[in-house]
Amino acid sequence: MTPLTTTPEPQQVRGACPHDCPDTCALVTTVENGVALRVQGNPAHRHTDGALCTKVSRYAERSYHPERLLTPLRRSGPKGSGRFEPVGWDEALDDIAQRLQAIAARDPQAILPYSYAGTMGLVQGEAMAGRFFHRLGASLLDRTICASAGGEGLVQTLGGKVGMKVEHFARSKLILIWGSNSIGSNLHFWRLAQQAKREGARLVCIDPRRTETADKCHEHIALRPGTDAALALALMHQLITHGWLDHGYIERHTLGWEGLRERALQWPPERAAEVCGVPVQQIVDLARAYGTTKPAAIRLNYGMQRVRGGGNAVRAIACLPALVGAWRDPAGGLLLSASGHFPVQRAALQRPDLLAGRAARTINMSTIGDDLLRETSPGFGPKVEAVIVYNSNPVAVAPESGKVVQGFEREDLFTVVLEHFQTDTADLADYILPATTQLEHWDIHTSYGHTDVLLNRPAIAPVGQARTNTDIFRALAARLGFDEPCFADDDLTLCRTAFGDAVDFQQLLDQGFATLNLPEAPFADGQFPTASGRCEFHSARLAAKGEDGLPDHLPNFEAFGSSTQFPLAMISPPARNFLNSSFVNVTSLRDIEGEPLLEIHADDAAARGIASGQMVRVFNQRGEYRCKASVSKRARPGVVNGLGIWWRKLGPFGTNVNEVTSQRLTDMGGGPVFYDCLVEVATLPEGA
Ligand code: SF4
Repeated sequence: MTPLTTTPEPQQVRGACPHDCPDTCALVTTVENGVALRVQGNPAHRHTDGALCTKVSRYAERSYHPERLLTPLRRSGPKGSGRFEPVGWDEALDDIAQRLQAIAARDPQAILPYSYAGTMGLVQGEAMAGRFFHRLGASLLDRTICASAGGEGLVQTLGGKVGMKVEHFARSKLILIWGSNSIGSNLHFWRLAQQAKREGARLVCIDPRRTETADKCHEHIALRPGTDAALALALMHQLITHGWLDHGYIERHTLGWEGLRERALQWPPERAAEVCGVPVQQIVDLARAYGTTKPAAIRLNYGMQRVRGGGNAVRAIACLPALVGAWRDPAGGLLLSASGHFPVQRAALQRPDLLAGRAARTINMSTIGDDLLRETSPGFGPKVEAVIVYNSNPVAVAPESGKVVQGFEREDLFTVVLEHFQTDTADLADYILPATTQLEHWDIHTSYGHTDVLLNRPAIAPVGQARTNTDIFRALAARLGFDEPCFADDDLTLCRTAFGDAVDFQQLLDQGFATLNLPEAPFADGQFPTASGRCEFHSARLAAKGEDGLPDHLPNFEAFGSSTQFPLAMISPPARNFLNSSFVNVTSLRDIEGEPLLEIHADDAAARGIASGQMVRVFNQRGEYRCKASVSKRARPGVVNGLGIWWRKLGPFGTNVNEVTSQRLTDMGGGPVFYDCLVEVATLPEGA
């Protein structure tokens, strides 16, 4: 480990949490003699308020983990054998560049980048990587795996991924925490919700799972997965029939009211109760509370949009605040994502102009299992011959992982993985390149849970021979002869480029964060960033595509009750101490989680002779995984919760929950439908 500085006095270095979490905390790393001693929350940053989650409090442990990749590795056995040998950087990069060049000479679209939110940083994410793949003419990747259905639902309704300022939730009087286990995955919002609760607010959790958050709310509405739009439409029905509407706001600031009114009147609470599997009275009471409490706020999160109708569900829910005029107050409205507020100069960072008029095909990351198994065809284009994976672990996180594994196991597929650890995906690589962690590089961050820009400074020198993602792509660009000046930009220049003049970079250097200048109640007077400037209940753009212009409930592909063979609906929320597939290998966090668990309701367990702690198999037509059953009040009847996302090789049988999830896509945005999944659960035969 080479220290960045060798100052004997402890230094405090300001940074930002890179993980896929709405809180985007400001970090302070204490460094002594070039070694990071601890990582803490920055008390000067109001959204962080000095506190980090358990996961990132262990960030120093993660960065110095004994299994950290320290040198480039080259495969030395058959694919998947796990046999690798150390290799020098020059040898590795020369060979990778030659192999990519040979493929690109036939068709560069046979090369596929595969990345997501392993870091949310704009620089170590898609800045230099984007330039490299655009210049190469590689396939484009549609980065859909988490949020694209809900994001598109918001765009169609509000005009962008925009919403309330999170700090104002502290003053709300009613908060619907919808599809969010805030304690586990939005901790700093939860602190605001608790503040509101102390000042008399009512908290209602809407989630199929009885989460830790649901435990601490006044009420929990445990609806079936994929029925959120039905609930939202029934709430509208009640708002209309009881006259709890803000007609002035509707008239001045919305579009398509008559159509929505007609649609909502088709959804009396009795109908929704049947679909959602909740008592009628619960819907009626929620509507009354929402219609009569001011200010009322909705903290929506992405779990609920991982179903066939995810985009429509977000559209329906996003209509609610306009109906009651909640946007008039800074503490009313809705927040799913704030990311659309940030003026990121993506084109300057990623340089799509380097495609130079070439129309590269786009591959959806959520169907990587099928797409790696496709042959060349006129519809698909060239067979994928090379995949460069960075900031992602598709073998663990992509749906229908049996097919994903089969694809990555192809002997004729050339796979390069930039990683911190030898993940399930790295196991199937030809080359594994050691990448820096957030403590070792510059980066700059937006947030989807607040409205501050954060700068991340390197606190320590790269561990081992690790290199930044940007440096790796720069080195490959040089070997491929890409001599455009943009490939010489260093990381600090990229940080400056990310926002241009829109953010005071000196403030970022001095303070570590800068707050966007936004109105406190952004839509109090309408001015939504839609084409009409109104909240669009009816979307002319969707209608022009032949789709329903109004939000509706779309039943799941695998709707509850539609199969006798696979009668249980399964969702796969994150285990509390993991973040997607990050942290699963951090021993202290894995020890807290224990092992892969399936939460199952006592009635469903009894019907199958399953006892708590027993190993079970969870299966459907796509595959099977095995884990331990937890007979738990956290599961509602008919719905099991397969906590994720374990690395396959760290689970007891070398599989994880994505063995059973499907590659079908959402109604909007081409997102995955992880929570639209029917399964059966059975005890394991003796000796299995
Ligand atoms: S994962 Fe979320 S809560 Fe934890 S430190 Fe990062 S941003 Fe903060």
